[in-house]
Amino acid sequence: MKSIQYKDAKRVEVGEKAAPEIGPGEVLVKVAYAGICGSDMIIYQGVHPRAKPPLVMGHEFSGVIEKGHATLPPGTPVTAYPLLGCGHCQPCLNGYAHVCDTLKLIGIDCDGGMAEYVKVPEDKIIPIPAGFPLKLGAFIEPVAVGVHAVSRSRYRPGDTAVVYGAGPIGLCVAGCLAYFGARRVIVIEAKPRRLDVARQMGFTTIDAAHEDIRAKVLEYTQGRNVDLAFDCAAHPSVHTSILDILRVQGVGVVVGSYKKPAEVDLIKIEFKELTLIGTRVYEWRDFETAVAILQSGRVDFDRLLTVAAPEEAPKQFAKLLAGESDAIKMLFKFG
Ligand SMILES: [Zn+2]
Ligand SMILES: [Zn+2]
Repeated sequence: MKSIQYKDAKRVEVGEKAAPEIGPGEVLVKVAYAGICGSDMIIYQGVHPRAKPPLVMGHEFSGVIEKGHATLPPGTPVTAYPLLGCGHCQPCLNGYAHVCDTLKLIGIDCDGGMAEYVKVPEDKIIPIPAGFPLKLGAFIEPVAVGVHAVSRSRYRPGDTAVVYGAGPIGLCVAGCLAYFGARRVIVIEAKPRRLDVARQMGFTTIDAAHEDIRAKVLEYTQGRNVDLAFDCAAHPSVHTSILDILRVQGVGVVVGSYKKPAEVDLIKIEFKELTLIGTRVYEWRDFETAVAILQSGRVDFDRLLTVAAPEEAPKQFAKLLAGESDAIKMLFKFG
């Protein structure tokens, strides 16, 4: 089968590979689309702590069942819940398998969806509704990250929110906030192309490179500041401003992964009675909610997707790393 394989730091290759053999409890999925995630870029750079070459990356994918499912017939459109919890650590035993002590993922710790076929444990198969475009099917996972972040935030209908970063995750969080009825969603970003996309999706934007974030947030909120702020940028400039733009008792949510420890001015948390919350991946129900959001068509997520042929993978990974790609979410089309 055709596959995109991570071979070494900054080296992916497109080549033939034997299709995975399935055992009991496993399903073979014929892949339609597979997306590049930020974590795949970490793997590509050779700095992921767990991923070892050669590896077929890809934990965001859609396809149809080829064989092996006990109840769903071949041809059923599906995606996969890619988290592999150990099942016996304290978080797993207490219902937090998504923060398992030794959390593993399809496409990071074993071969994933950037190939014509992928092997998925049957209990991780999520059917997607008939008529739902398979292209959007590969975007259910990032939307689930947005659903989970908003669920963690104590969001209340009518809240006003800031989202730092208009990458795929920032725009997923912003889109979920809009879907859930936020009064105003303000997206802060420095890249012009991403600001355009955020605007086209209906969000208020602040150009981090040229505008005063604090002044603009006050202007857009009539001097009130925001109820919620989501850090999807994990950029050192965010933690100096996130505590300033929250109202008293506002909530900041850390969504992006910081590479170095961030300095946080704790007295601002004390004086404004702020809450900082962490959020990590998603839970099963977030996937189901993400399917419903995408199916509703109320948020224009399709605009974020760029499709390329698998053969373009070496070029597309290099462009993404160099910051030269216009794509917000790059998908490879297999089927
Ligand atoms: Zn992902
Ligand atoms: Zn566990």
